[in-house]
Amino acid sequence: MSKESETDLLAAARARLAAGFADLPPVDTGIDSDRLKPVLFKVADRLADNFPYQHPLYVGQMLKPPHPLARLAYALAMEINPNNHALDGGRASSAMEKEAVAKLARMVGFETHLGHLTSGGTVANLEALWVSRELGQGRRRVLASSEAHYTHSRMSAVLGMDFTAVAVDCEGRMDLDALKTELQGGDVACVVTTLATTGRGAVDPLEEILPLAREAGVRVHVDAAYGGYFKLVAEGNPARERAFAGMGQADSVVIDPHKHGLQPYGCGAVLFRDPAVGWVYRHDSPYTYFSSGELHLGEISLECSRAGASAVALWATLELLPLEPGGEFAAGLKSCLNAALLLQAWVEKAENFVALAPPMLDIVVFGARADSATLASRRARDVFDAAAESNLHLALLELPRALAEPWWSGLEWDADTVTVLRCCLMKPEHEQWMPMITELLGEAGAATR
Ligand SMILES: *Cc1c(COP(=O)(O)O)cnc(C)c1O
Repeated sequence: MSKESETDLLAAARARLAAGFADLPPVDTGIDSDRLKPVLFKVADRLADNFPYQHPLYVGQMLKPPHPLARLAYALAMEINPNNHALDGGRASSAMEKEAVAKLARMVGFETHLGHLTSGGTVANLEALWVSRELGQGRRRVLASSEAHYTHSRMSAVLGMDFTAVAVDCEGRMDLDALKTELQGGDVACVVTTLATTGRGAVDPLEEILPLAREAGVRVHVDAAYGGYFKLVAEGNPARERAFAGMGQADSVVIDPHKHGLQPYGCGAVLFRDPAVGWVYRHDSPYTYFSSGELHLGEISLECSRAGASAVALWATLELLPLEPGGEFAAGLKSCLNAALLLQAWVEKAENFVALAPPMLDIVVFGARADSATLASRRARDVFDAAAESNLHLALLELPRALAEPWWSGLEWDADTVTVLRCCLMKPEHEQWMPMITELLGEAGAATR
């Protein structure tokens, strides 16, 4: 195994890229390091004012370090700074985008597809809702579970669509009876199915939602911004496996490579099963000069300028780590699942904590033991602070009573919600670090008694 440094590797790749333009007259692009260095050092000082997102003891929000290869490929692409709006602005990177997106579509189970990268899940979901409005023949209502990402209600408002939150069961999954009732209205354009929810990693029963929506003539959009890649490791939990198996029958799917796909921000993706939705995007812009007859990504995207570098980084990552069940990338996700099961098992035995619904993916949510909801919320915040003191960084989540009560016997409900602790175990290293994470958690629990 060769251990060239990242900077040496990048320098060698930059020289190779420059050779591709060797027939041009030289331009002096030398930098004045005397001027740059003090500013760059100031930047380093400023950036140290962050939680240590890159470290395994950070288990708080959804933050996962990009793969070193993604960082290098992104930096290399900065030599060109391509724009994937039109082929003229990013010829190579547009081709790489199409190849990377095709791999995501294959993983999802789409036999045909149309899709592209976006700056993130928000715009990707907006596009899917917009297409459902355009194809909805006057139907203008969006359904998503009450645990779905808030972007769906907000974007429905942006699109002038009505939004209804569908009730969930005590595991945070969309309730099918509530869905059936809403579908009877006859005005629904789209059911958003979340795999998995941002708060607790809950997985909606897609396999049961699909036939209900089909019968009602309603589009099914899968918001898998967070959980999409878990398609590769869905087996091992029957409910999870059944839900993810339905992905290939959805009308559209959103996956964020910048969440679990080892990519820098911002890299989201929207995928449509039927390539004919391309007509919804059609436009006739006098500003964009299309120099070839091929499909331009700018013609099937609501965003105009987009970072070609994101496509380059994703393409490189998929080249190194193919999306194969049983492959190296899948093994990394599998250890995230293992980490979650280890933590859940620990919480179930811990005297200071209360286990809630078992994790479907790699997000574990649990309560801090106390007599009442108000005291439990306060104690969760104290645990959060005490853990941070010892460099273990958690997150907090406010749970509605209905989602906590069935799991939490004996709690006095003096409030409608309870604040609980949340761990996103997104790094493959989390499995190995679990003994230290639980030790620090145990100490934080004892310190807040
Ligand atoms: C993160 C997330 C989003 C929003 O995506 P961004 O990339 O943050 O814009 C939407 N839906 C789900 C389920 C998410 O987890």
